[in-house]
Amino acid sequence: MWKPLVNVMKIYGNQFAAPETLKRIQEKRIRVLVHFAYNNSPLYHRKFRDAGITPEDIVGLEDMYKIPLITKEEIRTVFPQGIVAPGFSRENCTVKTTSGTSGSVFTMLYDREAEAYFSAISYRDHLAQGLRPWHKFFVLQHDPAQLNRPSRTILQRVKGVSGILPEEELVKEARAFQPDFMGGHPSAYVAMATVVKNNEIKDLNPQAVLLGGEVAYPSYRKYIEKIFECRTSNKYGSYETHSIAWECQHLGMHINADSVLVEFLKRGEPVAPGERGEVVVTNLWNRAMPLIRYRMGDIGIPSEESCSCGRSLPLMKDLEGRADDFIVLPSGRAVPPTRLIPPFFLTPHVGQFKMIQETKSWIRIQIVPRETLPEEEENALLQQIRNVFQEPVDIEVERVEKIQQEGRGKFKAVISKVGISLA
Ligand SMILES: [Zn+2]
Repeated sequence: MWKPLVNVMKIYGNQFAAPETLKRIQEKRIRVLVHFAYNNSPLYHRKFRDAGITPEDIVGLEDMYKIPLITKEEIRTVFPQGIVAPGFSRENCTVKTTSGTSGSVFTMLYDREAEAYFSAISYRDHLAQGLRPWHKFFVLQHDPAQLNRPSRTILQRVKGVSGILPEEELVKEARAFQPDFMGGHPSAYVAMATVVKNNEIKDLNPQAVLLGGEVAYPSYRKYIEKIFECRTSNKYGSYETHSIAWECQHLGMHINADSVLVEFLKRGEPVAPGERGEVVVTNLWNRAMPLIRYRMGDIGIPSEESCSCGRSLPLMKDLEGRADDFIVLPSGRAVPPTRLIPPFFLTPHVGQFKMIQETKSWIRIQIVPRETLPEEEENALLQQIRNVFQEPVDIEVERVEKIQQEGRGKFKAVISKVGISLA
C-alpha cells in the first residue's frame, strides 16, 4: 500500500492506544535512536563517553536521565560534521532553517523517512481539527524554502504562502483561494485580522485558524476569532523537533508521544503533574540529525488528566512563554515579527540578532556576526527591513559579541517598548 497512507493509518490508531503500548513504541524507538546516534554522530559519541555510558545502559524510559541534555548552541557549533549522520546531506534531506524565537540561525536536516512520518503526525492533528481531504488549506510559511513541500499535501488541497509578504498581500491571496482552514503564526494572523477589520472584508470565512510556530497569547486568539468569526486551535512544535503537541478542542494539548518523548524537568528531575518544568524533547524518528534530550528553552506543565475526547496521548497545559513583539510604527501600523525575523536568518553572516524598539521612531538592532558581516550584506539586510516598515524610522545597528537574554524563558528576538493594542 502507498507508504504515506500506511503511516497515516498507523499513526491515527496510536492516539487511542493504551498507555503501555505508547510506552513500548517510545522505548523501542529510543533504543534504536541511541545506538544510531552513538555510532554515527561524533557529538553524541563524545557526550556518552564523557557521561560514562554506552547505548546498552539505555533500556527503558527510566534510563533517560543518564543521557546528558543537549542545547541548540552545542549542536550549532558542531554542525554539520559533528551531528549529521554519514550518508545524509542537504541533497537527500529536507532542510529547515529555524526562525522562531531563538534569535540565532539554526539548520535542521530531516531524512525522508522521518519527514514522511512527521507529515502523517501533522495530518492526525489536522483531522482532529476537522480538516478533511477535500478541504482547502491556506498555510503561511516562515521559511520560503518550505513552500508547498510535497509531503505536506497528503490528500489535501494546500496553498503555501510566504509569511514574509505584507499582510495586505496575504489577505488578498487568501481571499483568492477561499480556504476552509488557515494556518500559521499567531502574530501574522493578528496582522491579517487588522487588514480584514479595517477594510470590512466579509468574504474570508475559514472554519478555523490553526495556530502554531510561536506562543499564541489569549488576546491574540480572541482577536483572530472575533475578526475571522471562527475558532482557533493551537499547536506546539519547532523546526528542530517537528510537531510536539496540539489541542483537540476538548481539554489541553495532546503530546505526540509516538513521535517525540517530552520531559518536563526542574533541576534535572521530572516535575510532578501540574508543576512547571523545562521542556526537553527527544525526536524519536529523525536519523539524519538525531536530537536526544534537547533543551527547547520553553517552560511547560505536564498534566495527568485524561481528555474527554478519548485520546490516550498524554496532555500538557498550554505553553508558558513570551512571543516576539510587534513593532508599532509612527503611523500606528503594527508590523508582526514574522515579517522581520526571516531577513536575518536568510543573511548568511548573521549569527544571532535582536531588534529592540525603544520609541515609535527609534529601533536598535544588535547583530553577532558569523565571522565577519560584509558591509554590503548589512546594507541589503537593512534595506529589506526598511522595505517592510515603509515609514521613516531611525535604525541603529550595533555589532556585538554576545546578546543578553532578558529575564527567564525563551529568548525574544524582537522586543518593543511601545506595545500593541488589540481592540
Ligand atoms: Zn483530547
